[in-house]
Amino acid sequence: MHPDLERLIRLQQLEDAAEQARRVIADEPLRQQEFTARIAALQQTLDDERARLAANQAARRDIEKELAMQQGRLSKFKGQLMEVKTNREYQAMLKEIEVAQHEIGKQEDRLLEQMLEFDEITRHVKDAEQRFNADKAAVEAERKALAGQLTLAQAAMGQVAADRDVLAREITPSVLAMFDKLLRFRKLSAVTPVREGRCSACGVRVRPQTVNELRKNEIIFQCDTCQRVIYYETIAAPATPPDIAQE
Ligand SMILES: [Zn+2]
Repeated sequence: MHPDLERLIRLQQLEDAAEQARRVIADEPLRQQEFTARIAALQQTLDDERARLAANQAARRDIEKELAMQQGRLSKFKGQLMEVKTNREYQAMLKEIEVAQHEIGKQEDRLLEQMLEFDEITRHVKDAEQRFNADKAAVEAERKALAGQLTLAQAAMGQVAADRDVLAREITPSVLAMFDKLLRFRKLSAVTPVREGRCSACGVRVRPQTVNELRKNEIIFQCDTCQRVIYYETIAAPATPPDIAQE
């Protein structure tokens, strides 16, 4: 292989590694925000369920109060029933008793509903607590992983810069100048393989005759369309840069 081509491929790998590292570092604050937002959303769900439970218990206390009041009225009317003098008073008292009993029945139904709802909300609260704890643990694990990625990325930035300096000095200056120019114009992608007869960056077909010429990678050849340096890929790639992929 052309020695400069081999170095250019390696240089591009270093650029890719540096770009990955830059992205990890740049994305870190946003990912921290996402973690915080996820925890806050879980906390909100849990708080909402707990508030529903508190409201249920407050409503139940109100019903119990109302029930006690109606029961008091009922026993008062029953006591008075013995003391009435006329049939008219007696009938009126019976009516009052009937009304009070009806009210008590209504409140007892409501109480039962509240109690069933209480069981349901209690289950929701427990589920929310479990989800909160599980997801919080997951977020913490992701946070830890991110901290690890960040450390790797910061180390990679330094290492890549050092490796690039060493490599750059070994490349023919005019070739290096072309690479640097391409790198700026082509958004960090200056060297790319030919895949299935096409430039893998711009996708334009490379003439079969050129593909044949590239087969031994003995020439430095630029894609007619995007100007990137293209090469034939079946060769064993030089040592890959450290893996600092984000995921
Ligand atoms: Zn191209």
